[in-house]
Amino acid sequence: MSELVQVGLPGASNFDAHHPPEKALIDDCVHCGFCLPACPTYVLWGEEMDSPRGRIYMMNKVAQGEATLDHIFQRHMDNCLGCMACMTACPSGVQYGKLIEDTRAQVERNIPRSSADSLFRRMLFATFPYATRLRVLALPMLVYQRSGLQSLVRKSGVLQRLPERMAAMEALLPRVPATLLRRMPARVSADRPRRRVGMLSGCVQQVFFSHVNQATARVLAAEGCEVVIPQDQACCGALMVHSGLEKDAAAMARQLIAAFEHAEVDTIVVNAAGCGSTMKDYGHMLRDDPAWAARAAAFSARCRDISEILAELPPQAPRHALPMHVAYHDACHLRHAQSIYQQPRDVLAAIPGLEVATVAEADLCCGSAGVYNLLHPEAANILGDRKVKNLLATNASVVVSANPGCLLQLMSGLRRQGKQTMPTFHMVELLDASIRNLSPEELLRRSR
Ligand code: SF4
Ligand code: SF4
Repeated sequence: MSELVQVGLPGASNFDAHHPPEKALIDDCVHCGFCLPACPTYVLWGEEMDSPRGRIYMMNKVAQGEATLDHIFQRHMDNCLGCMACMTACPSGVQYGKLIEDTRAQVERNIPRSSADSLFRRMLFATFPYATRLRVLALPMLVYQRSGLQSLVRKSGVLQRLPERMAAMEALLPRVPATLLRRMPARVSADRPRRRVGMLSGCVQQVFFSHVNQATARVLAAEGCEVVIPQDQACCGALMVHSGLEKDAAAMARQLIAAFEHAEVDTIVVNAAGCGSTMKDYGHMLRDDPAWAARAAAFSARCRDISEILAELPPQAPRHALPMHVAYHDACHLRHAQSIYQQPRDVLAAIPGLEVATVAEADLCCGSAGVYNLLHPEAANILGDRKVKNLLATNASVVVSANPGCLLQLMSGLRRQGKQTMPTFHMVELLDASIRNLSPEELLRRSR
């Protein structure tokens, strides 16, 4: 296949006219390079074109008509994890998130992919954002795991002979819960009510991490929040927007906004970092849609990560001792995309007896990044192993994060290090255990 698929007029942009990456945002980059050591792909490969500065330079070349939208451009944009560590590191405030989002949509519209790549991506996007389809697929997986077949297959070495992406899917498959078909109620009443909030149930989250949703609702109720969980809500579109599928993401955004408008809540609580950062950006995503722009902006303004709302509310429920030594992993879509650093630490610090370890290279992505670990398993595994080694070096006995994608990636990394029995929790599960006065042993027993 030819590398060059589009050639424009000299001086004219080679991006199409629909939302090219904004020239003014490109020009904010002063090429200082402060972002380079923060960028996981630059750390991995040391290639300028796989750094934020290099990617912005390439965008500029295409915008000026000096480079084409070709497969080399596609590869370097695909390699980006979208972790936004470059935004935290950048002293000039470059809005790389907006640049890569618009660029990815351009890549998807204008640069063809190989049939195998297209097919794999279509399969991912036809399943992951749909909870009902995920449940149907998870049922045979439940049998696969509980029958002991998974252990046999993993020991047999047959997975090494599968295509890399298929093997990555198997490696990342979480333990399918027996509560697979159980759904969250439409409403959870508050103890001593003081707020009425909506809650996102998510797609992957509600199927594989329903226990995290239940813990979130219990904590909110204990803290005086009546929790409304619209039953007609669907995926937030995060996977689509991070992959350049702009139209699909916008359709999902409109559906979610409408579902929560009917719920009449003042705040929408999210317990998955990638979903939260996308929902907070709906105002930007739907800025050109006259019927939805204002509604999207109002919706985004009401979204809060669970750690943010807990930091906002003076504690009402007593915290009981939970003597554990935990290593907290920052999800990039909290730390970098939403600048949420202190709030989860404060939530954990308020639990008596809980000791939180300091982790080396805390700002570096674990390699999860939405579906990056399925699309680029080799790079994702290297980053995952590096993250897990840093977490294990703390000698903590439990790993904690606040994003389902990171938890899956860390579980898979722990397994590769022979530490598959090391427990992993969402931050809110620890607070829930503290409020319910569960002992560490009881918490661990219930998580098995
Ligand atoms: S988003 Fe992450 S991977 Fe992409 S350029 Fe920025 S730091 Fe690098
Ligand atoms: S993105 Fe920011 S930190 Fe990176 S080179 Fe440009 S101005 Fe410097």
